[in-house]
Amino acid sequence: MKYAIPMWDAPAVPIAGSTDLFPVRHVYCVGRNYAEHAKEMGGDATKEPPFFFCKPADAVSPVVPPEVGSVRYPLATKNFHHEIELVVAIGKRGVHVSAADANDLVFGYATGLDMTRRDLQNDMREKKRPWDLGKSFAQAAPIAPIHPVAGTGFMKRGEIRLDVNGAMRQKGDLADMIWDVPHTLAFLSQYYELMPGDLVFTGTPAGVGAVVAGDRLDGHIDGLTPLSIVIA
Ligand code: MN
Repeated sequence: MKYAIPMWDAPAVPIAGSTDLFPVRHVYCVGRNYAEHAKEMGGDATKEPPFFFCKPADAVSPVVPPEVGSVRYPLATKNFHHEIELVVAIGKRGVHVSAADANDLVFGYATGLDMTRRDLQNDMREKKRPWDLGKSFAQAAPIAPIHPVAGTGFMKRGEIRLDVNGAMRQKGDLADMIWDVPHTLAFLSQYYELMPGDLVFTGTPAGVGAVVAGDRLDGHIDGLTPLSIVIA
């Protein structure tokens, strides 16, 4: 058997300190997982269960320093937003996992951006329609190399920050997550069978905002490879 049209390369993310690649199966994202960001999006900070949306694997756009990635300004938006996020790479299968066991699934961590067409997302939200137009599009998930957990330990705290054109836009601490990584994975595994190759974007701290062509974004999470892109 052969493919009827040319097969594309499987989406994959480089692994820090290695020539290996992490193949991407599925991309899950958590909404409103930092209290101050929940407020700026019009919600409150009560500890409701997390909610999830997805991006297609081919939205993953790896950037390996010293390269500065190039992300094209997407179609159909006039309000293109940055969301800096800790990304968890899943290395083992897991379903109905308890928070106490969830860290066993973690392969590693990376610095990522949940790029968002905010005008489309808000429009869909108001109409009670799915968020896909706002969240799922080409290059919607820039990501730096993945650091295996053997080198990082289980990440619970540390600064997470995004600068735009050298000025600080978003700043928080991983410890400020409403649902930490093990609880997020435990919730997610009630709905999905988590599989090796899955990525989980764990939400963004406050300070999201719009970018335009020519802007440079520098994302930082303590202990991980930074992520730099320019909007083309
Ligand atoms: Mn997000």
